[in-house]
Amino acid sequence: MRLRSRSMAFGAIVLFILITGVNVAQDGRRVVLAPESDRYSVYSGAVHVHSVHSDGSGTLEDIGKVAAASELDFVLLTDHSTVAGAASGGEGYYGSALVMVGEEINTSYGHILALGTTRHLEQDGPDGLPKLLNAIESNGGISVVAHPYGRRDWQDWGLNGLQGLEVFNADSEWRDDSLWEWARALVWYPISPVAALNGLVDYPSESLARLDQMAASSHVVAVASVDAHARIPLWGDQFLPFPTYGRMFNWLRTYVLTDEPLTGNSDHDKQLINSAIAHGRSYSVVEGYGAGHGFSFDYADDDTTVTMGGSAVAKSDGRVTVSTGAEEGVLIRLMKGGIIAAESRSAEATFNVAKPGVYRVEVFQIRRYLPLFQVSERPWIISNPIWLR
Ligand SMILES: [Zn+2]
Ligand SMILES: [Zn+2]
Repeated sequence: MRLRSRSMAFGAIVLFILITGVNVAQDGRRVVLAPESDRYSVYSGAVHVHSVHSDGSGTLEDIGKVAAASELDFVLLTDHSTVAGAASGGEGYYGSALVMVGEEINTSYGHILALGTTRHLEQDGPDGLPKLLNAIESNGGISVVAHPYGRRDWQDWGLNGLQGLEVFNADSEWRDDSLWEWARALVWYPISPVAALNGLVDYPSESLARLDQMAASSHVVAVASVDAHARIPLWGDQFLPFPTYGRMFNWLRTYVLTDEPLTGNSDHDKQLINSAIAHGRSYSVVEGYGAGHGFSFDYADDDTTVTMGGSAVAKSDGRVTVSTGAEEGVLIRLMKGGIIAAESRSAEATFNVAKPGVYRVEVFQIRRYLPLFQVSERPWIISNPIWLR
């Protein structure tokens, strides 16, 4: 009897390892080709990173070096309620990676990322939120709602002056997962960390529904955030530097399209990157599934061409073109006002779009999971919208 229950337990463990192992292998990274664009330069970065100036474990130098080693072009630091990273003169290039400073501000309705300004700002009194949003804007920045559906949900979407939101937030990704997904990630993390983390990413339906709702009446930008701390507090001032900055930088990225190439001059380059983010000339990538360098999404007719974040008048010969850089195994979905307008199971696609509307693109990686190798569409790239009037 005891032998039987022991062999049943053994069998269950073997089955768990087999099923989750095959599934985790499916969540691995694939190679992506990067076609040349003649109109824009493409750069990738980590948005929403904490340093020792708030509750992160790394100095700006540590973070900059890890970013350069991870082949990131920029890091957007957002420490809680401080811009000390900038005040201490820490902004600038560390090798090939540019560290830029913004701020994560506590408000009465949730957390806001102030991006594109290095001036410390805070909410003044319980009714001070509209004033804060104005101040962020008048200091040249934008207000992006952090983890809108995560640890601390955003409370007031009716507010004027919100200019963006996080569609991916690494810190939120693992909070909504089932025990099964957790066990799988935990068991496989030491062996295949990237794939284990990928398995925790869910299609961000709530954030995307909110993005579509906001985009219907105003310009709005979406970013992917790592919300990286590289710090799990233990006791006293002890902590575990986990998950490392490097892990997070290779999991989720925000890509930007700049008007001109970066030059290595930090003030100049900071301006270019901030401007691309503010204009929504950017897209969010689950980097763990493959790099996003090859992605493009443009609208064109005989008179004009616009990319993400832009707007144009819809023409009868209008079409959007999407490239992913992937070789195969992807699904391109064109969304119009939050509804699927067209889709294509190919690495590149062109769709005719003659009617006004808010268009954006979602790209999924098609993977096969046990049992029965069922096909699953894993979210990979989320574009910012193009507005057709
Ligand atoms: Zn936060
Ligand atoms: Zn944060």
